[in-house]
This record gives sequence, C-alpha cells and structure tokens, in this order.
Amino acid sequence: MNPEHPLVAIYPGSFDPVTLGHQDIARRTLSFADRTIVAVARRATHQKAPLFTLEERLEMLAEVFADEPRIECEAFDGLLVDFAHARGARFIIRGLRAVADFEYELQMAQMNRELSDQVETLFLIPDLAYSFLSASLVREVAGLGGDVSRFVSGPVLLRLRERVGT
Ligand code: ADP
Repeated sequence: MNPEHPLVAIYPGSFDPVTLGHQDIARRTLSFADRTIVAVARRATHQKAPLFTLEERLEMLAEVFADEPRIECEAFDGLLVDFAHARGARFIIRGLRAVADFEYELQMAQMNRELSDQVETLFLIPDLAYSFLSASLVREVAGLGGDVSRFVSGPVLLRLRERVGT
C-alpha cells in the first residue's frame, strides 16, 4: 500500500439486508484494495418499498464489518461515479452470481464508463455457497417463516426475526 495514494474501492448496492454473499464479496476486495466503502443507495433503483430503512441497513453493515477497519459503510445519493470521485475511489465493485446478473451489470458498467473514464468496474464472483443468494430471496423466505440462518449473519438474523416476526 502506498499511504499517499490508498487504493479505494466502492461496493454499491441496496443491502436490504446485507447477506453472507455481500459480505463475501466485500471481504474479497481487500486482497487488492486498501479500503472499501460499502455504499448504500439512498434511492433504490428497482425496488419499491425496502424492508429495512436506510439507517437500519447501515447499522447492520456496521455490525457485520465491525471487525474489519478497512471496510467502511456509507449512504450515497445521486450518481455513483460522482460519489466515487468524491471519495477518490478507482474501482466500483459488483458481484456476479449467474448469467442472469450479467446483462444488467454490463449495461450499468458501460453507462458508468460513459459518465467517467476514471473509475473502473470490477466484477467479483462469490464463494459457490452464495452464488444463488440474493437479498430479495432472503426477504421472501424469512417473510414466509423459512430459516435463513445460513444466508445472513447473526445481527441480521435478529433484525429479520424482529421485522417479519418469525
Ligand atoms: P441483491 O441483488 O442481493 O438485492 P444488491 O442490489 O444490494 O443485492 O446488490 C449489490 C451487489 O451485490 C450487486 O452487484 C449484486 O450482484 C451483488 N450481490 C448480491 N448478492 C450476491 C451474492 N450472493 N454473491 C455475489 N454478489 C452478490
């Protein structure tokens, strides 16, 4: 690491709530980034009503990454590339699970490149155990009373139980 030019990555998403798949991706970034900012979008792009408020999502993120000082969690508004510039980030991190993610992710990465050539999008793949996992599935299964303890960490499980009453 060059302390004068730390390599900063931004991992954006809605994290409603953060899953073990998200955690796996965020921790993987630390093999090449000095610092990673997990950035929670204030405005969801494709989801109507979130299950958790922005503050709750940030609290859960802070809890699950409490042991890792190189991962910070923050909310952002507006264009992701503007936020990346403001934080001096060189990389936008996205997770790729299956082919289904690919088209949307490619479109978004191309658009972000049009908007700024100074930020590079990097795609990481999660551990196989999480390659089918999404926050929306976790919300759905938890809402129906299913056991999601293998997909989220302790603090998230507690909040899910409080919220959906299972
Ligand atoms: P989700 O798709 O689970 O609702 P987000 O919209 O918050 O989550 O996604 C943020 C980023 O994390 C996206 O790039 C998404 O593809 C990635 N991601 C989400 N879940 C996983 C997972 N299980 N493995 C790898 N990447 C994931």
